[in-house]
Amino acid sequence: MEWNELLIRYGELSLKGRNRNTFVRKLRNNIKEALRDLKTVVIKPERDRMFLIAEDQQDMKEAIARLPYIFGIQSFSPVAKCEASLDAIKEKALAVIGADETEGKTFKVEIRRTDKSFPLVTGELQQEIGGHVLRHFPKLIVKMKKPDILLHVEIREEGAFLTAKVYEGAGGMPVGSNGHSMLMLSGGIDSPVAGYLMMKRGVSIDAIHFASPPFTSELAKKKVMDLAEKLSTFGAAVRLHIIPFTEIQQMIVSQVPDNVSMTTTRRLMLQIADKVRQEEGALAIVTGESLGQVASQTLESLTAINAVTETPILRPLIAADKLEIIQIAQKIGTYDISIQPYEDCCTIFSPSNPKTKPRLDKVIYYESFSDFAPLVEEAVKNRETVQLPLQQEDAFEDLL
Ligand code: ATP
Ligand code: MG
Repeated sequence: MEWNELLIRYGELSLKGRNRNTFVRKLRNNIKEALRDLKTVVIKPERDRMFLIAEDQQDMKEAIARLPYIFGIQSFSPVAKCEASLDAIKEKALAVIGADETEGKTFKVEIRRTDKSFPLVTGELQQEIGGHVLRHFPKLIVKMKKPDILLHVEIREEGAFLTAKVYEGAGGMPVGSNGHSMLMLSGGIDSPVAGYLMMKRGVSIDAIHFASPPFTSELAKKKVMDLAEKLSTFGAAVRLHIIPFTEIQQMIVSQVPDNVSMTTTRRLMLQIADKVRQEEGALAIVTGESLGQVASQTLESLTAINAVTETPILRPLIAADKLEIIQIAQKIGTYDISIQPYEDCCTIFSPSNPKTKPRLDKVIYYESFSDFAPLVEEAVKNRETVQLPLQQEDAFEDLL
Protein backbone atom coordinates (compact mmCIF):
# COMPACT_ATOMS: atom_id res chain seq x y z
CA MET A 1 0.00 0.00 0.00
CA GLU A 2 1.34 3.44 -0.95
CA TRP A 3 0.60 6.21 1.50
CA ASN A 4 0.73 9.87 0.53
CA GLU A 5 0.85 11.49 3.94
CA LEU A 6 0.49 10.98 7.69
CA LEU A 7 -2.16 12.76 9.69
CA ILE A 8 -0.81 13.56 13.16
CA ARG A 9 -3.25 14.36 15.98
CA TYR A 10 -2.18 16.12 19.16
CA GLY A 11 -3.77 15.66 22.53
CA GLU A 12 -3.82 18.18 25.37
CA LEU A 13 -7.01 19.83 24.24
CA SER A 14 -6.93 22.05 27.28
CA LEU A 15 -3.92 23.95 25.91
CA LYS A 16 -4.71 27.55 25.24
CA GLY A 17 -3.24 30.57 23.49
CA ARG A 18 0.50 30.87 23.56
CA ASN A 19 0.94 27.47 25.19
CA ARG A 20 -0.68 25.88 22.20
CA ASN A 21 1.65 27.72 19.84
CA THR A 22 4.71 26.64 21.82
CA PHE A 23 3.39 23.08 21.84
CA VAL A 24 2.84 22.96 18.09
CA ARG A 25 6.16 24.63 17.26
CA LYS A 26 8.11 22.31 19.55
CA LEU A 27 6.33 19.23 18.27
CA ARG A 28 7.08 20.18 14.70
CA ASN A 29 10.77 20.76 15.52
CA ASN A 30 11.05 17.51 17.45
CA ILE A 31 9.50 15.54 14.60
CA LYS A 32 11.86 17.22 12.14
CA GLU A 33 14.83 16.44 14.36
CA ALA A 34 13.83 12.79 14.78
CA LEU A 35 13.41 12.41 11.01
CA ARG A 36 16.33 14.59 9.99
CA ASP A 37 17.99 11.90 7.88
CA LEU A 38 14.80 11.33 5.84
CA LYS A 39 15.28 13.73 2.99
CA THR A 40 11.82 13.78 1.45
CA VAL A 41 9.82 14.55 4.58
CA VAL A 42 7.90 17.83 4.87
CA ILE A 43 5.72 18.79 7.88
CA LYS A 44 2.70 21.05 7.60
CA PRO A 45 1.10 22.11 10.89
CA GLU A 46 -2.52 23.20 11.05
CA ARG A 47 -4.42 24.47 14.06
CA ASP A 48 -5.28 21.16 15.65
CA ARG A 49 -3.43 18.62 13.55
CA MET A 50 -0.30 18.25 11.46
CA PHE A 51 0.46 16.58 8.15
CA LEU A 52 3.68 14.79 7.33
CA ILE A 53 4.33 14.30 3.67
CA ALA A 54 7.08 12.06 2.28
CA GLU A 55 7.81 11.65 -1.40
CA ASP A 56 9.59 8.39 -0.83
CA GLN A 57 7.65 5.34 0.49
CA GLN A 58 10.67 4.08 2.40
CA ASP A 59 10.81 7.43 4.23
CA MET A 60 7.11 7.10 4.94
CA LYS A 61 7.61 3.66 6.51
CA GLU A 62 10.52 4.91 8.56
CA ALA A 63 8.43 7.87 9.76
CA ILE A 64 5.62 5.49 10.81
CA ALA A 65 8.18 3.49 12.82
CA ARG A 66 9.63 6.55 14.59
CA LEU A 67 6.54 8.61 15.40
CA PRO A 68 5.44 6.38 18.32
CA TYR A 69 8.47 7.68 20.26
CA ILE A 70 7.73 11.34 19.94
CA PHE A 71 5.92 12.86 22.90
CA GLY A 72 3.03 15.20 22.16
CA ILE A 73 1.45 12.96 19.50
CA GLN A 74 -1.89 11.46 20.55
CA SER A 75 -2.33 9.29 17.46
CA PHE A 76 -1.53 9.26 13.78
CA SER A 77 -2.93 7.73 10.61
CA PRO A 78 -1.51 7.04 7.18
CA VAL A 79 -3.50 8.84 4.51
CA ALA A 80 -4.03 7.83 0.89
CA LYS A 81 -4.91 10.53 -1.57
CA CYS A 82 -6.81 10.26 -4.84
CA GLU A 83 -8.75 12.35 -7.29
CA ALA A 84 -12.08 13.60 -5.88
CA SER A 85 -14.29 11.43 -8.09
CA LEU A 86 -16.55 8.63 -6.92
CA ASP A 87 -14.74 5.96 -8.95
CA ALA A 88 -11.32 6.96 -7.73
CA ILE A 89 -12.50 7.06 -4.10
CA LYS A 90 -14.11 3.60 -4.40
CA GLU A 91 -10.94 2.12 -5.77
CA LYS A 92 -8.74 3.75 -3.14
CA ALA A 93 -11.12 2.63 -0.38
CA LEU A 94 -10.51 -1.00 -1.33
CA ALA A 95 -6.75 -0.53 -1.22
CA VAL A 96 -6.89 1.22 2.16
CA ILE A 97 -9.17 -1.38 3.76
CA GLY A 98 -7.33 -4.27 2.14
CA ALA A 99 -4.02 -3.16 3.65
CA ASP A 100 -5.08 -4.85 6.91
CA GLU A 101 -6.86 -7.97 8.09
CA THR A 102 -10.64 -7.66 7.56
CA GLU A 103 -12.04 -11.02 8.69
CA GLY A 104 -14.57 -10.66 11.50
CA LYS A 105 -13.88 -6.93 11.84
CA THR A 106 -16.58 -4.30 12.22
CA PHE A 107 -16.67 -1.37 9.84
CA LYS A 108 -18.14 2.03 9.14
CA VAL A 109 -17.64 4.78 6.55
CA GLU A 110 -17.46 8.39 7.62
CA ILE A 111 -17.50 11.24 5.13
CA ARG A 112 -16.36 14.80 5.57
CA ARG A 113 -16.93 17.19 2.72
CA THR A 114 -15.18 20.52 2.76
CA ASP A 115 -15.59 20.81 -1.01
CA LYS A 116 -19.31 21.49 -1.21
CA SER A 117 -19.30 21.42 -5.01
CA PHE A 118 -18.91 17.63 -5.00
CA PRO A 119 -21.92 16.17 -6.87
CA LEU A 120 -23.13 13.61 -4.26
CA VAL A 121 -24.34 14.48 -0.77
CA THR A 122 -22.84 12.81 2.28
CA GLY A 123 -25.51 10.13 2.74
CA GLU A 124 -25.29 9.00 -0.88
CA LEU A 125 -21.52 8.90 -0.74
CA GLN A 126 -21.59 6.83 2.40
CA GLN A 127 -23.88 4.26 0.78
CA GLU A 128 -21.97 4.12 -2.48
CA ILE A 129 -18.57 3.69 -0.85
CA GLY A 130 -19.76 1.46 2.00
CA GLY A 131 -21.64 -0.82 -0.41
CA HIS A 132 -18.62 -1.08 -2.67
CA VAL A 133 -16.33 -2.01 0.21
CA LEU A 134 -18.77 -4.60 1.58
CA ARG A 135 -19.14 -6.28 -1.82
CA HIS A 136 -15.37 -6.76 -1.92
CA PHE A 137 -14.87 -7.68 1.72
CA PRO A 138 -18.02 -9.67 2.59
CA LYS A 139 -16.62 -10.69 5.99
CA LEU A 140 -16.78 -7.12 7.28
CA ILE A 141 -19.69 -6.37 9.61
CA VAL A 142 -21.24 -2.92 9.61
CA LYS A 143 -21.29 -1.26 13.03
CA MET A 144 -22.12 2.37 13.69
CA LYS A 145 -20.64 2.75 17.17
CA LYS A 146 -16.93 2.14 17.74
CA PRO A 147 -16.19 0.03 14.67
CA ASP A 148 -12.79 -1.72 14.41
CA ILE A 149 -12.19 -0.06 11.06
CA LEU A 150 -13.39 3.49 10.56
CA LEU A 151 -12.89 4.44 6.94
CA HIS A 152 -12.70 8.20 6.96
CA VAL A 153 -13.02 9.98 3.62
CA GLU A 154 -12.37 13.68 3.48
CA ILE A 155 -13.21 15.48 0.27
CA ARG A 156 -11.32 18.71 -0.18
CA GLU A 157 -10.77 20.79 -3.26
CA GLU A 158 -7.31 19.30 -3.80
CA GLY A 159 -8.64 15.76 -3.78
CA ALA A 160 -10.03 12.98 -1.60
CA PHE A 161 -8.10 11.80 1.49
CA LEU A 162 -8.74 8.36 2.99
CA THR A 163 -7.63 6.90 6.34
CA ALA A 164 -8.58 3.71 8.11
CA LYS A 165 -5.88 2.86 10.61
CA VAL A 166 -5.09 4.76 13.78
CA TYR A 167 -1.70 4.26 15.43
CA GLU A 168 -1.41 5.20 19.06
CA GLY A 169 1.12 7.94 19.80
CA ALA A 170 3.30 8.33 22.87
CA GLY A 171 1.00 10.98 24.38
CA GLY A 172 2.40 13.60 26.73
CA MET A 173 3.84 16.90 25.57
CA PRO A 174 6.70 17.68 23.17
CA VAL A 175 10.08 17.44 24.91
CA GLY A 176 11.32 20.97 25.56
CA SER A 177 7.87 22.59 25.63
CA ASN A 178 7.96 22.61 29.45
CA GLY A 179 11.51 23.74 30.10
CA HIS A 180 14.74 22.07 31.04
CA SER A 181 15.67 20.13 34.21
CA MET A 182 18.57 18.28 35.78
CA LEU A 183 17.93 14.55 36.31
CA MET A 184 19.86 12.83 39.11
CA LEU A 185 20.60 9.56 37.36
CA SER A 186 21.90 6.63 39.40
CA GLY A 187 22.39 3.19 37.90
CA GLY A 188 19.17 2.01 39.57
CA ILE A 189 15.72 1.22 38.24
CA ASP A 190 13.91 4.34 39.42
CA SER A 191 15.75 7.39 38.19
CA PRO A 192 15.68 6.53 34.46
CA VAL A 193 11.91 6.03 34.79
CA ALA A 194 11.62 9.39 36.54
CA GLY A 195 13.54 10.99 33.67
CA TYR A 196 11.30 9.32 31.10
CA LEU A 197 8.14 10.53 32.83
CA MET A 198 9.36 14.13 32.97
CA MET A 199 10.38 13.98 29.31
CA LYS A 200 6.91 12.72 28.58
CA ARG A 201 5.58 15.80 30.31
CA GLY A 202 7.60 18.00 27.96
CA VAL A 203 10.72 18.57 30.06
CA SER A 204 14.10 18.20 28.38
CA ILE A 205 16.88 16.94 30.62
CA ASP A 206 20.55 16.99 31.41
CA ALA A 207 21.54 14.01 33.57
CA ILE A 208 23.99 14.09 36.45
CA HIS A 209 25.68 11.04 37.91
CA PHE A 210 27.92 10.68 40.96
CA ALA A 211 30.77 8.22 40.57
CA SER A 212 33.40 7.24 43.11
CA PRO A 213 36.29 5.62 41.28
CA PRO A 214 38.10 3.37 41.99
CA PHE A 215 35.33 2.11 44.30
CA THR A 216 32.90 2.32 41.42
CA SER A 217 34.12 0.79 38.16
CA GLU A 218 34.23 1.80 34.51
CA LEU A 219 31.43 -0.70 33.95
CA ALA A 220 29.19 1.18 36.40
CA LYS A 221 29.89 4.35 34.43
CA LYS A 222 29.18 2.61 31.14
CA LYS A 223 25.87 1.42 32.56
CA VAL A 224 24.81 4.98 33.35
CA MET A 225 25.87 6.11 29.87
CA ASP A 226 23.74 3.32 28.42
CA LEU A 227 20.79 4.49 30.51
CA ALA A 228 21.23 8.10 29.39
CA GLU A 229 21.50 6.89 25.82
CA LYS A 230 18.27 4.94 26.20
CA LEU A 231 16.54 8.07 27.49
CA SER A 232 17.67 9.97 24.43
CA THR A 233 15.51 7.70 22.25
CA PHE A 234 12.53 9.67 23.53
CA GLY A 235 12.76 12.68 21.33
CA ALA A 236 15.68 14.66 22.74
CA ALA A 237 19.40 14.28 23.07
CA VAL A 238 20.52 13.93 26.68
CA ARG A 239 23.74 15.32 28.12
CA LEU A 240 25.34 13.47 31.01
CA HIS A 241 27.52 15.10 33.67
CA ILE A 242 29.68 12.69 35.64
CA ILE A 243 30.79 14.05 38.99
CA PRO A 244 33.95 12.78 40.70
CA PHE A 245 32.58 12.06 44.18
CA THR A 246 35.25 9.89 45.84
CA GLU A 247 36.95 12.54 47.94
CA ILE A 248 33.69 13.87 49.29
CA GLN A 249 32.47 10.41 50.23
CA GLN A 250 35.74 9.63 51.99
CA MET A 251 35.48 12.87 53.93
CA ILE A 252 31.91 12.06 54.94
CA VAL A 253 32.90 8.58 56.14
CA SER A 254 35.77 9.94 58.20
CA GLN A 255 34.05 13.00 59.67
CA VAL A 256 30.30 12.45 60.00
CA PRO A 257 28.73 9.87 62.36
CA ASP A 258 27.60 6.73 60.62
CA ASN A 259 23.88 7.10 61.15
CA VAL A 260 23.65 10.52 59.49
CA SER A 261 26.24 9.94 56.76
CA MET A 262 23.58 8.82 54.28
CA THR A 263 21.64 12.05 54.79
CA THR A 264 24.80 14.12 54.43
CA THR A 265 25.79 12.25 51.26
CA ARG A 266 22.42 13.05 49.72
CA ARG A 267 22.61 16.65 50.82
CA LEU A 268 25.99 17.08 49.16
CA MET A 269 24.80 15.37 45.99
CA LEU A 270 21.85 17.71 45.85
CA GLN A 271 24.04 20.77 46.42
CA ILE A 272 26.33 19.75 43.59
CA ALA A 273 23.41 18.92 41.31
CA ASP A 274 21.97 22.34 42.08
CA LYS A 275 25.19 24.13 41.12
CA VAL A 276 25.47 22.21 37.87
CA ARG A 277 21.78 22.95 37.25
CA GLN A 278 22.47 26.64 37.64
CA GLU A 279 25.45 26.55 35.28
CA GLU A 280 23.45 24.67 32.67
CA GLY A 281 20.43 26.96 32.94
CA ALA A 282 18.02 24.23 34.06
CA LEU A 283 15.01 25.15 36.18
CA ALA A 284 14.40 22.14 38.42
CA ILE A 285 15.95 18.90 39.66
CA VAL A 286 14.36 15.51 38.99
CA THR A 287 14.96 12.44 41.19
CA GLY A 288 13.69 8.87 41.26
CA GLU A 289 12.70 9.06 44.91
CA SER A 290 9.62 7.12 45.95
CA LEU A 291 8.12 7.59 49.38
CA GLY A 292 9.05 4.98 51.96
CA GLN A 293 11.18 2.87 49.63
CA VAL A 294 14.40 3.13 51.67
CA ALA A 295 15.69 4.99 54.74
CA SER A 296 16.62 8.07 52.71
CA GLN A 297 13.10 8.35 51.31
CA THR A 298 10.96 8.90 54.39
CA LEU A 299 9.33 12.32 54.65
CA GLU A 300 11.76 13.21 57.45
CA SER A 301 14.75 12.23 55.28
CA LEU A 302 13.45 13.99 52.21
CA THR A 303 12.94 17.12 54.31
CA ALA A 304 16.48 17.05 55.69
CA ILE A 305 17.96 16.45 52.23
CA ASN A 306 15.77 19.03 50.54
CA ALA A 307 16.83 21.75 53.00
CA VAL A 308 20.03 22.51 51.04
CA THR A 309 18.14 24.19 48.21
CA GLU A 310 15.02 26.10 47.28
CA THR A 311 15.11 24.82 43.71
CA PRO A 312 11.98 22.79 42.89
CA ILE A 313 12.65 19.06 43.18
CA LEU A 314 10.42 17.03 40.89
CA ARG A 315 9.76 13.49 42.09
CA PRO A 316 7.43 11.90 39.56
CA LEU A 317 7.65 8.50 41.31
CA ILE A 318 6.90 9.71 44.81
CA ALA A 319 3.58 7.84 44.94
CA ALA A 320 4.41 4.93 42.64
CA ASP A 321 4.78 1.30 43.72
CA LYS A 322 7.98 -0.50 42.84
CA LEU A 323 6.07 -2.89 40.59
CA GLU A 324 4.54 -0.03 38.65
CA ILE A 325 7.99 1.50 38.24
CA ILE A 326 9.42 -1.79 37.02
CA GLN A 327 6.65 -2.12 34.45
CA ILE A 328 7.51 1.25 32.97
CA ALA A 329 11.24 0.45 33.08
CA GLN A 330 10.57 -2.73 31.10
CA LYS A 331 8.40 -0.93 28.60
CA ILE A 332 10.98 1.75 27.88
CA GLY A 333 13.90 -0.64 27.81
CA THR A 334 15.88 0.63 30.81
CA TYR A 335 15.13 -2.29 33.12
CA ASP A 336 17.64 -4.74 31.65
CA ILE A 337 20.37 -2.13 31.87
CA SER A 338 19.46 -1.12 35.43
CA ILE A 339 19.59 -4.64 36.83
CA GLN A 340 23.21 -5.17 35.76
CA PRO A 341 25.01 -5.72 39.04
CA TYR A 342 27.52 -2.86 39.03
CA GLU A 343 28.08 -1.01 42.27
CA ASP A 344 26.72 2.46 42.95
CA CYS A 345 28.65 5.01 44.99
CA CYS A 346 25.92 5.08 47.62
CA THR A 347 25.80 1.34 48.18
CA ILE A 348 29.56 1.12 48.67
CA PHE A 349 29.73 3.80 51.31
CA SER A 350 26.33 3.22 52.81
CA PRO A 351 26.23 2.71 56.57
CA SER A 352 24.62 -0.45 57.92
CA ASN A 353 22.08 1.42 59.98
CA PRO A 354 21.05 4.78 58.49
CA LYS A 355 18.55 6.89 60.42
CA THR A 356 15.07 6.77 58.93
CA LYS A 357 14.04 9.95 60.74
CA PRO A 358 17.07 12.25 60.74
CA ARG A 359 16.65 15.61 62.48
CA LEU A 360 17.79 18.50 60.35
CA ASP A 361 19.34 20.46 63.24
CA LYS A 362 21.46 17.46 64.24
CA VAL A 363 22.58 16.80 60.67
CA ILE A 364 23.61 20.43 60.27
CA TYR A 365 25.46 20.27 63.60
CA TYR A 366 27.46 17.17 62.60
CA GLU A 367 28.29 18.62 59.20
CA SER A 368 29.52 21.86 60.76
CA PHE A 369 32.86 20.30 61.76
CA SER A 370 33.92 19.76 58.16
CA ASP A 371 34.47 22.20 55.31
CA PHE A 372 32.84 20.59 52.33
CA ALA A 373 32.52 23.79 50.28
CA PRO A 374 35.88 23.66 48.45
CA LEU A 375 35.36 19.99 47.59
CA VAL A 376 31.90 20.78 46.25
CA GLU A 377 33.32 23.54 44.03
CA GLU A 378 36.02 21.23 42.76
CA ALA A 379 33.60 18.41 42.00
CA VAL A 380 31.43 20.76 39.95
CA LYS A 381 34.46 22.10 38.10
CA ASN A 382 35.99 18.70 37.38
CA ARG A 383 32.86 17.08 36.01
CA GLU A 384 33.06 15.15 32.80
CA THR A 385 30.32 16.01 30.31
CA VAL A 386 29.21 13.52 27.67
CA GLN A 387 26.81 14.45 24.90
CA LEU A 388 24.62 11.53 23.87
CA PRO A 389 23.10 11.99 20.45
CA LEU A 390 19.41 11.48 19.73
CA GLN A 391 19.00 7.73 19.27
CA GLN A 392 16.87 6.10 16.64
CA GLU A 393 17.55 2.72 15.11
CA ASP A 394 17.72 0.38 18.05
CA ALA A 395 14.64 1.92 19.54
CA PHE A 396 11.82 0.52 17.51
CA GLU A 397 12.30 -3.15 18.14
CA ASP A 398 11.12 -3.01 21.72
CA LEU A 399 7.99 -0.96 21.27
CA LEU A 400 6.65 -1.85 17.87
P1 ATP B 1 17.34 4.49 41.82
O1 ATP B 1 16.70 3.21 41.41
O2 ATP B 1 16.98 5.63 40.93
O3 ATP B 1 18.79 4.34 42.08
P2 ATP B 1 16.78 4.01 44.53
O4 ATP B 1 15.45 3.45 44.87
O5 ATP B 1 17.94 3.07 44.47
O6 ATP B 1 16.66 4.84 43.19
P3 ATP B 1 18.30 5.78 46.13
O7 ATP B 1 19.53 5.00 45.84
O8 ATP B 1 17.98 6.14 47.53
O9 ATP B 1 17.00 5.13 45.59
O10 ATP B 1 18.36 7.12 45.31
C1 ATP B 1 17.31 8.04 45.30
C2 ATP B 1 17.51 9.01 44.15
O11 ATP B 1 18.74 9.74 44.34
C3 ATP B 1 17.70 8.30 42.82
O12 ATP B 1 16.48 7.98 42.23
C4 ATP B 1 18.49 9.30 42.04
O13 ATP B 1 17.64 10.30 41.52
C5 ATP B 1 19.40 9.91 43.11
N1 ATP B 1 20.69 9.20 43.12
C6 ATP B 1 21.08 8.19 43.91
N2 ATP B 1 22.34 7.79 43.64
C7 ATP B 1 22.79 8.58 42.65
C8 ATP B 1 24.01 8.69 41.91
N3 ATP B 1 25.05 7.88 42.12
N4 ATP B 1 24.10 9.64 40.97
C9 ATP B 1 23.06 10.46 40.69
N5 ATP B 1 21.90 10.40 41.36
C10 ATP B 1 21.74 9.49 42.32
MG1 MG C 1 19.85 3.64 43.79
